[in-house]
Amino acid sequence: MDSDVLIVGAGPVGGYLGKCLAEQGIHVIQIEEHLEIGRPFQCAGLVTPSAMDKVGLHDTTLTDVWGARMHAPNGSSIEIGNPSQIREHVVCRKRFDEAVVRQAINAGVELKLGTQITDAVLNDDHIAVTIRDEAGEQTLRTRLLCGADGAHSWVRSHARLGRPPETMIGFQVEAIGYPGLDGILDMYTGFNIAPGLFSWVIPNGDTHRIGIWVRSRDVDERSCEMLYDYLTKSSMFSERFSDIQEVARYCGPVPAGVLKRTTRER
Ligand SMILES: Cc1cc2nc3c(=O)[nH]c(=O)nc-3n(C[C@H](O)[C@H](O)[C@H](O)COP(=O)(O)OP(=O)(O)OC[C@H]3O[C@@H](n4cnc5c(N)ncnc54)[C@H](O)[C@@H]3O)c2cc1C
Repeated sequence: MDSDVLIVGAGPVGGYLGKCLAEQGIHVIQIEEHLEIGRPFQCAGLVTPSAMDKVGLHDTTLTDVWGARMHAPNGSSIEIGNPSQIREHVVCRKRFDEAVVRQAINAGVELKLGTQITDAVLNDDHIAVTIRDEAGEQTLRTRLLCGADGAHSWVRSHARLGRPPETMIGFQVEAIGYPGLDGILDMYTGFNIAPGLFSWVIPNGDTHRIGIWVRSRDVDERSCEMLYDYLTKSSMFSERFSDIQEVARYCGPVPAGVLKRTTRER
């Protein structure tokens, strides 16, 4: 047997899983298709205090959020929160992901970067997993295969575990020049801004992360970019965005809800 567990994906979930297993003396191989951990970046960087306590990576925090201002489509707003109670840490995801995976390696996980899974065949006492890196393909025998491979999980699809109940779309621009308040994130709502969900502006140290979060079934023929343009250029809140300068933008799916089935044959 080459490993007890083979984990596909070295994001925060795969890294934390690998660490927990390796600390129990379980032999773990982890593969990651990218050559670098934490790229591409697709996140607002929010980590709850309870999740942060599990990994103890406070040095990756850029700033803390204790409250929110929620803005209704008619312009009225309410503010919630208490400065003495931190609700979210805003982290540098690159450093956070790297540090979680570093903890896994320190616990004994064998990490293979630049490596993709291409096949998995179930046998009585093992799974034959074919992986490919720049040197070519090889097949490893593992007792258990775990998918921590994100929103488009190959493992979930290959094991026919079904789809998450809902897939939402997250779109985000990182910008300077937004007149936010320290420790407070802004949430904007409305059919023309973020149908079904909300838009956010999260303080991030030197920049702000301006995001649109929608359910695909609610957007009709509009794109997230169109909703973002409406928020920042035409909505009643657009004045606040008049001095922003964009640093980066990214978009990605966010699966929501729990799969009906999360395991097979083991
Ligand atoms: C705009 C936006 C904002 C978001 N904001 C937040 C936020 O504030 N807080 C939060 O917790 N989440 C946020 N998310 C969601 C966040 O990206 C994920 O929740 C989080 O990264 C999940 O971590 P993960 O380890 O499950 O998956 P990922 O971070 O996606 O890691 C999966 C890893 O698996 C690798 N992989 C995939 N397929 C294969 C394969 N076949 N072979 C080998 N490796 C593979 C990938 O390269 C990747 O490194 C946001 C998402 C978007 C789009």
